[in-house]
Amino acid sequence: MSQIGVESAFEVLVRARELERKGKHVIHLEIGEPDFPTPAHIVEAAKRALDEGYTHYGPTQGLPELRESVARYVSITRDIRVGPQHVAIVPGGKPIIFFPMLALIESGDEVIYPNPGFPIYESMIRFSGGVPVPIPLIEDRGFSFDLDLLRKRLSSKTKLMVLNSPQNPTGGVIPPEDIRAIADLVRDRDLMVLSDEIYSRIYYGEPPVSIANLPGMLEKTIILDGFSKTYAMTGWRMGYGVMPEWLVDAVNKLMVNSNSCTATFTQRAGIAAIDGPQQPVNAMVAEFRRRRDAFCAGLNQVPGIRCALPGGAFYAFANITGTGIGSKELADRMLYEGGVSCLNGGAFGKFGEGYIRFSYANSYENLMLAVERIKTVAASGLAVGTG
Ligand code: PLP
Repeated sequence: MSQIGVESAFEVLVRARELERKGKHVIHLEIGEPDFPTPAHIVEAAKRALDEGYTHYGPTQGLPELRESVARYVSITRDIRVGPQHVAIVPGGKPIIFFPMLALIESGDEVIYPNPGFPIYESMIRFSGGVPVPIPLIEDRGFSFDLDLLRKRLSSKTKLMVLNSPQNPTGGVIPPEDIRAIADLVRDRDLMVLSDEIYSRIYYGEPPVSIANLPGMLEKTIILDGFSKTYAMTGWRMGYGVMPEWLVDAVNKLMVNSNSCTATFTQRAGIAAIDGPQQPVNAMVAEFRRRRDAFCAGLNQVPGIRCALPGGAFYAFANITGTGIGSKELADRMLYEGGVSCLNGGAFGKFGEGYIRFSYANSYENLMLAVERIKTVAASGLAVGTG
């Protein structure tokens, strides 16, 4: 247990709520979940499923009809050919980090992963007995990997490589040419790629490319995706992995030992989500784009802060080194002095130091108010810094 980590977003949320209980007004830009309701037709499908008696155990791997829908959807969106036998339905996207890592990593195996990155990667690598090999993401490269360093870090011990695009916490999208270069580096190696595509539908430019689409990569790739972000269903706890059948077998064993199955009425709602109208998703992404443009423009006017325009997800990862304040201290002061709850980039790994993650999954008005508060807090730092 000493090896396992936590996720700071949940801790900061607790602190922010504590302040609110004491009467402070807090703008929540810490937690990574869409602030939109789950679309009504999905909620209706769940209610209908309950009335129809979907209240019992289901197959460990997931309802066949949902696995069919997921296989069809993933085949179309990634331009690959997969079937329901490749799909494992699990309670959230996270189990597709947890289970494949437990299944694949032996003590001493090296695992490459992005830093800054979703904290659960490093936590689970350590918990599984693996050796974490962080690859820094480079701000000037749109927060893509340093490919030369990636080449150097690959070794005969590398068992798994984690990719995440669009990315948490930076909002970066790995460009197609980088995906191709990464595939060329790993194609002939005895390793698997965990491609975390949980933000696959939330992008503002060219659609992200899945490494599974490249020649020879499908049999080496585990695609992680789910319902949490795309359909604003974070609390429903439903996600899926698409992977070779031999690994589906391992995930099934871990599932039957831990969860038995994913709740069946939520899976029926999952079918409605994938096969039903997509207009709510498009509307949500359009609104995220509007907020992204205004919020990043606002941040870039704050002396000492610069923020690259993110290509996907709903995070702005602002470089705050010009304020003269450390990112942990600044994030704390934003919360306690400014009433803006945000995350220290260092909580996503050492290469996140000097950055702050803001989730713009909050109203346009709140985001504009947050910019004003951020200005005030940042200015106090500059004043101290310039003596
Ligand atoms: N992967 C990334 C990069 C995430 O940011 C998250 C959630 O924040 C997840 C996976 C987990 O998603 P879920 O809530 O479906 O478990």
